[in-house]
Amino acid sequence: MATQIRPSRIPFSLTDVLLPLKCRACGVEQEPAALTVCDACLGPLEPLYPVGRNLPDRATIAARAPSLWRYQEWLPFAAGSTPPLSRDTGFSPLVEAPRLADALGVGRAWVKNDAVSHPTLSFKDRVVATAINAAHALGLPVVGCASTGNLANAVAAHAARAGLPAWIFIPEDLEPAKVLGSLVYGANVVRVRGHYDDVNRLCAQLADRFGWGIVNVNLRSYYGEGSKTMAFEIVEQLGWRLPTAVVAPMAGGSLLTKLGKGFGEFLDAGLVEGPSPRLHGAQAAGCAPIVRLLERGDDVLVPEVPQTIARSIAIGNPADGRYAARAMRDSGGWGAAVSDLALVEGIRLLAETTGIFTETAGGVTVAGALALSRAGRLGADDEVVVCITGNGLKTTDALRDVLPEPPLVAARVREVEALVAASAATLHQ
Ligand SMILES: *Cc1c(COP(=O)(O)O)cnc(C)c1O
Ligand SMILES: [Zn+2]
Repeated sequence: MATQIRPSRIPFSLTDVLLPLKCRACGVEQEPAALTVCDACLGPLEPLYPVGRNLPDRATIAARAPSLWRYQEWLPFAAGSTPPLSRDTGFSPLVEAPRLADALGVGRAWVKNDAVSHPTLSFKDRVVATAINAAHALGLPVVGCASTGNLANAVAAHAARAGLPAWIFIPEDLEPAKVLGSLVYGANVVRVRGHYDDVNRLCAQLADRFGWGIVNVNLRSYYGEGSKTMAFEIVEQLGWRLPTAVVAPMAGGSLLTKLGKGFGEFLDAGLVEGPSPRLHGAQAAGCAPIVRLLERGDDVLVPEVPQTIARSIAIGNPADGRYAARAMRDSGGWGAAVSDLALVEGIRLLAETTGIFTETAGGVTVAGALALSRAGRLGADDEVVVCITGNGLKTTDALRDVLPEPPLVAARVREVEALVAASAATLHQ
């Protein structure tokens, strides 16, 4: 390049890269910032998208690179800016699953397979991709999170790539694979005595004390927007159509809420037509404060003490619980709470019908879909997308006592003949 073109606007302004925030409760607008809640009323903050901004059409989107950044106009960064980090996250497969559709008694079913999300095999890569670019724009020196496991893995990996130090706080009883899957990236991992809700409270205090960017606390307004890309991808991968229903797991309730927002934004943009899908949410019965709230029908979330092996979604006091309950009710969807036994069966059903191995949260989702179908909430007219948000290799303990021990044979055909005969005999029983 012969000449360096200097940016015309000096000094550099933060709003050239990151969108400002607006309070959902009182409407006050704030400069882009790492803020947990509204300064004025403690309400929740959301990025403020410019009205009348240019939006791409289907063909323009389809020609872009296969990552969540193909939907950048709906992500919280200024038009014309290019968030530099985690450019390759998103656009996970949407897999048609006819055998799962049969098991659920629905017309058609697809799995949105974030178990292979990049780089850490859960949907948390999406939210971290947006949050870490917000941290970068804000010049925050350190990122961190309060995590039930998958967020820890994602923050550690994305921070390692960005060259940012990471401080990661987890409850003491997480699965070994999830602890290891954070440590390997060189992050500072701290186990905290207590449940996720204790960890989360601590992180809110640490964000203030050290000026860190805690992705799901003071960067939450930017973080949550990443979840919408799951809805955008579903629409595009179905051929710019909407399913009739979606089933997703709920922890803090952000994913489910943002799925609704994402479908709504593509409807508003005229990229897709038809009724918005019914949003169904699934939780483990041992930690189901959002499903209970929906069933009670009031607006007051009652926190629970988690008691389930579905640790990745064991949040007793979910930050977006009320919004998730409202999103389910307003869309005509419903909730399901399933036992730990049922979720293990859900993991096996998904694996045996689709070849996809999910973690405990995915087991909750599949078992939840079955329960909703039995309750008449899903039926033969439905085209359902089941959101699988995490990978089974991270929670193998859940299956330890339920799968058969493989037989051990000598390297002789006769020994295998005996096995084949025995297998045929059980098939014909
Ligand atoms: C975090 C998580 C969710 C749900 O997250 P929300 O807090 O409800 O957005 C779902 N599945 C898995 C595997 C997760 O790690
Ligand atoms: Zn406010």
